[in-house]
Amino acid sequence: MVRTYFGSPAIVSRKTKMDPARPELHWWVIEPVAEALTVLEELSWHSTHLFVALAPPTGKQNHTEPEIQSEAEIDFFINGVNTIAHQRGLAKIPPSHVRSHMFRKTMSQLAGREPDSEIALGLQLKHAARRAFANRTTQAYAQMDSSWAKEFDTELQQAAARKLVDLLRGRRQGERVAVGPGAARLHDGLDKVIATIDNDPQLRAQIADERVEEALLADEFPNLHLGTVNHCMFDAPQAECQDELPEDQRGLAPLIGACQPARCRNSTITRAHAPYWAAEEDDLTALSKDPRLSPPNREAVFIRLADVQRITRALEEEGTA
Ligand code: SF4
Repeated sequence: MVRTYFGSPAIVSRKTKMDPARPELHWWVIEPVAEALTVLEELSWHSTHLFVALAPPTGKQNHTEPEIQSEAEIDFFINGVNTIAHQRGLAKIPPSHVRSHMFRKTMSQLAGREPDSEIALGLQLKHAARRAFANRTTQAYAQMDSSWAKEFDTELQQAAARKLVDLLRGRRQGERVAVGPGAARLHDGLDKVIATIDNDPQLRAQIADERVEEALLADEFPNLHLGTVNHCMFDAPQAECQDELPEDQRGLAPLIGACQPARCRNSTITRAHAPYWAAEEDDLTALSKDPRLSPPNREAVFIRLADVQRITRALEEEGTA
């Protein structure tokens, strides 16, 4: 089902991965994807899956399988291309094991390593770009190539530190640079970095060199995940999102799709995030007035609206946060 989440199109869906008991999560999508999914919803004969065979199997009662497997479809596609490649002047696709998750990993890897490709990815995928990175943090994905994941984590940590430099500068001027449940912790960490620089003559001499600040920030905030609606200083015991996971999968990485940005003590919200919160407040306010809402759903909308307004009010009060 396509809906909005913090002012952007999102779908609510479950990544089953052979475990249908996993929680439903929000997945941000760009408009063309939302449109494609809406068409698929119309076409699919299956009660829970959109990607299914063209028609349900005949002669089977109460079948639950979508009758389509991505592995088989990819092999079929490669065989099809290779069969006619010589007629079309194409090089054959070399024999290799190709599976759908590899496209995501390749894309993330390229985006992480090529100069400016992160910007290109952001232009192409807009708000969903962050999600493309965030997906990499799922346990199963990390397990596939832990050495690569480790390398990418370092890249991500440094990118996060680069963006924190601006907040550090604001903090140096005495600003409250963030609101939200984790704001005090963020401010404490920034103050600590400022004190470290100020108390060390050698570091103070290099203050014009941003890399010094970046290195100190990366050390101070090793688990910072930059997000579209908040920044997460992931600390597992305080993480609200982990409650959605089975116990043996908790504590490894933020579960972005189950984030509680207004409630979690790891969450901070800066001025850059403000437009998303304003959009969410507008959406929820409009939804709360919908006469078709059932009383329990209206109650849920009001609870969520109160959470969101706590943040928008705080952002308004800070003005410059
Ligand atoms: S709930 Fe959100 S802010 Fe809190 S740990 Fe999870 S992803 Fe981070």
